[in-house]
Amino acid sequence: MRIGQGWDRHRLEPGRRCVLGGVEFPDCPVGPLGHSDGDALCHALCDALLGAAGLGDIGRHFPDTDPRWKGADSLDLLARVRALVAAAGWTVGNVDATVITEQPMIAPAAAAMRLKLAGALGVEPAQVSVKGTRGEGLGPEGRGECLTVQAVALLCREATYFTST
Ligand code: MG
Repeated sequence: MRIGQGWDRHRLEPGRRCVLGGVEFPDCPVGPLGHSDGDALCHALCDALLGAAGLGDIGRHFPDTDPRWKGADSLDLLARVRALVAAAGWTVGNVDATVITEQPMIAPAAAAMRLKLAGALGVEPAQVSVKGTRGEGLGPEGRGECLTVQAVALLCREATYFTST
């Protein structure tokens, strides 16, 4: 087994489309800025998986200087990372992520995000965890300037996985 961690932060801008974990928040007044769709949850998971496999980071595989990835669907990037990890002989055991933000509210959308992320990763939703927490007025997240995501991933050599039961 191998473990990896990922971290991502995006500035929040008024009027910007807000998509996290592949789920759109049409009523959110702010959204994460980025060369791609700004989906920091997918980006942190990409880095956790790449880190666990020793395959570098998201910037190495999908550089933001490359016009191919401008406005990219980050769920697609996550699926590409899964393919890279699989090619190296690893299967996803489980992933867990925490989104630190004032808005949007994560909890009501967590189940939908788990479904989308599990689809991109080719695993069961039980192998994917998404949690939300707030900055409590402290730091850039608490002031609503950005959102930050922390993620961990476990990779296995065999096609076994761990459920939450
Ligand atoms: Mg990012």
